[in-house]
Amino acid sequence: MTLEVLWFDRTLARSDAPDPEYPEGVDLDLCRDIGPACWTALRYPARGPGYYHIACTRCGSATGCMTKGQTDDPRSIRLPCRVSAVSGGSFKMENQAA
Ligand SMILES: [Zn+2]
Repeated sequence: MTLEVLWFDRTLARSDAPDPEYPEGVDLDLCRDIGPACWTALRYPARGPGYYHIACTRCGSATGCMTKGQTDDPRSIRLPCRVSAVSGGSFKMENQAA
């Protein structure tokens, strides 16, 4: 697992009612099954309004997602690896470890 997760408190953010479509959280998938990817669980629900910054320490791929501290928060995320930054052999190993 090479994903590093940071959470930033944004207590001033406006908090809407949780989306009833996602009573058990959301599994974010940014990959659409193309190429190597990393996956990590997120603390769910989040501590409150804020956002996660998720970065792969191996290839530098990074993204962010908002949290509300509610039931419709993200609970996991899949992030595509930047293939050009990783040699063929090592991204294969990364996938197997995930
Ligand atoms: Zn990566």
